[in-house]
Amino acid sequence: MRISQTLFVTLKEEPADAEVRSHALMVRAGFIQQIAAGIYVYGPMMWRVLHKIEQIVREEHDKAGCQELLMPALQPRELWEESGRWERYVADKILYHFKDGRGRDVCLGPTHEEVITNFVKGRLTSYKQLPQNLYQVQTKFRDEMRPRFGLMRGREFVMKDAYSFDADAEGMAKSYDVMREVYRNIFTRCGVRFTPVEADSGAIGGSGSEEFMVDADTGEDAIAVCHETGYAANTERAVSKIPAPPEPAEEVAMHKEPTPGAKSCEDLVALFPDLPIERMLKTILYRAVWADREQAIAVMCRGDREINTVKLLNHLDCLGLELADEKLVKQVTNADVGFAGPIGLSDEVMLLADNSVEGVKGFLCGGNETDTHYLDVWFGRDLEQPSTHDFGVVQAGDKTVEGDGTIEITRGIEVGHIFQLGTKYSEAMNATFADEGGKLKPFHMGCYGIGISRTAASAIEQGHDDGGMIWPLPIAPYHVMLIQMRPGDEAQDGLAQELHDQLEAAGIEVLWDDRKGGAGAKFKDADLVGIPLRVIVGRDAADRKVEWKPRTGGETEVISADEVLGRVQALL
Ligand code: ATP
Ligand code: MG
Repeated sequence: MRISQTLFVTLKEEPADAEVRSHALMVRAGFIQQIAAGIYVYGPMMWRVLHKIEQIVREEHDKAGCQELLMPALQPRELWEESGRWERYVADKILYHFKDGRGRDVCLGPTHEEVITNFVKGRLTSYKQLPQNLYQVQTKFRDEMRPRFGLMRGREFVMKDAYSFDADAEGMAKSYDVMREVYRNIFTRCGVRFTPVEADSGAIGGSGSEEFMVDADTGEDAIAVCHETGYAANTERAVSKIPAPPEPAEEVAMHKEPTPGAKSCEDLVALFPDLPIERMLKTILYRAVWADREQAIAVMCRGDREINTVKLLNHLDCLGLELADEKLVKQVTNADVGFAGPIGLSDEVMLLADNSVEGVKGFLCGGNETDTHYLDVWFGRDLEQPSTHDFGVVQAGDKTVEGDGTIEITRGIEVGHIFQLGTKYSEAMNATFADEGGKLKPFHMGCYGIGISRTAASAIEQGHDDGGMIWPLPIAPYHVMLIQMRPGDEAQDGLAQELHDQLEAAGIEVLWDDRKGGAGAKFKDADLVGIPLRVIVGRDAADRKVEWKPRTGGETEVISADEVLGRVQALL
């Protein structure tokens, strides 16, 4: 393909709002254009990349026996009422929903469990037809609160979603294992470095789930990893053994102390330098909302630990959870913000605690009175220990629950997520099949998503330098960039045309820079768009000599034009 015949327009300026490199570079290279927050045009170069990722995804799914279909983006409310998800997705404000011309509620699909379950219902009727796995590559809509980072978090984006149907839990686990392998193959073939991690199942629900994280410092997800034991989990879900708290020297009676202005652990550490922070217990207040009620929740945890709101939300099984505002804090503690504690809290509050409070003796906690804390408090003696669960955030340096390895915190970009759903949707939507004995049973389902557009962005997050993008060969928009130094020079015209035709005839994708213009501008553009293999037709064209100059790694070499095809084929 000759550049002079394509829409190839690069920008000199970086977009002002780009927070990550992939976003800035894709805009500058003309790959994408934002038309509103989180909504993009994928230009021809970008589209080629997305196609390549989709192609790899399709090949690996087909190889594993999955079948492709296409479901509608526009979906009726009734299906979402059947599964019981309409309310939560509306409350989360993630769902685009509106009334159509007939006054009926519809939404734009953020995911397709309802539609697929409804589709197989009455079609898959016997155990003899199982297992089945159906997938699609389709545009998804999510009204993300903070669309950002370019294609990483769009409001409209391309996803591959697959759904498996099995007769029982054992079959579902098998289908899940197959998909886990499919995902490993896909991301390996895409040429990105990734880590599979244990994950939280979120609003989708279900039992087991795993995320595929592209390793990148700019990733939005924090991951707990342990190189000694191989443990890897999203911190939303990660568990650990935490260091034991120091014991008090003696047992003293509980006493109330004035703590003017001391609202944070930092203030309290300054005020009581001899009391270890592990023996200061925080009490954090939240407002939890369910479909039919809301309640104030107080959660205690050790001063050196944090509360994981994902774990808390899962435990409460509520629709929403937010930090209590000043008004609510005053209402339930009778004090300013910063002095909440377990003793004398209003009865309307549900009091819970993180596992980190276990075994803490002689602790400090808020006094439910402005500028006041209790000291030397003991569970069992001064108050009952609240119902205790794992609500903690794993921290670097914690030990793994198994094997006693040390945990590190790294960052990643979630590009894929696989779930064992169980019978959550099939039961809710009454999707059943007849087992061997003729008894009707709900399907055991799995669902499996890959962010196609996010995977492309994550490849650039991993592969770029000051000059621009560096695409992995398998998903690059073209394999070879053929740079002609002086279009119009007879020898160069002839050789460039010959190489172009020869490579294309061999199924190799060539972008031929045949534009008139300075060498500097051409090399800048070539660096920016990041096509991995590059051949330069210049001065020595009359001698059938060209320069071989890959985008990264390796010196420029002068080689015979006859060697080019062989070299490219060897790399493909
Ligand atoms: P996140 O936690 O990043 O919001 P999610 O867990 O809600 O994502 P899933 O429902 O698991 O996402 O969707 C499957 C895949 O779709 C994700 O692994 C991710 O690669 C991709 N994806 C999800 N949301 C977006 C988005 N807003 N823009 C681009 N890709 C997305
Ligand atoms: Mg996910």
